[in-house]
Amino acid sequence: MNKGQYKQYRKELIDAVYKRDNYTCVYCLAPASTVDHVVPLSRGGKWRLNNLVACCIWCNNEKSDNSLKGFINDKLPYFRARNSTSDITAVELIDRVTFRLELIKDHENITF
Ligand SMILES: [Zn+2]
Repeated sequence: MNKGQYKQYRKELIDAVYKRDNYTCVYCLAPASTVDHVVPLSRGGKWRLNNLVACCIWCNNEKSDNSLKGFINDKLPYFRARNSTSDITAVELIDRVTFRLELIKDHENITF
């Protein structure tokens, strides 16, 4: 794949993530303007549908290179406020992320 083709694939991948996630940040439910690598690139994560979620810029900056569990545990009070529920748990939030990724597990063979 040449550079132009790779750029086009990444663009199509990002569009697919936004559509799957209804343009909504998986973490805080704000409108999404970025995509987040659930497993960060620095930790071996890939540009793949099953490693990307729609994300707002705040959550993406805050998550940075953190693991999913570390990030959610760390920001739980913020997510409770943003999700308008005081009792959402870290496990439920992690399940929500996992559910979105599971939706496309049949396409796991698509690599980018
Ligand atoms: Zn967010």
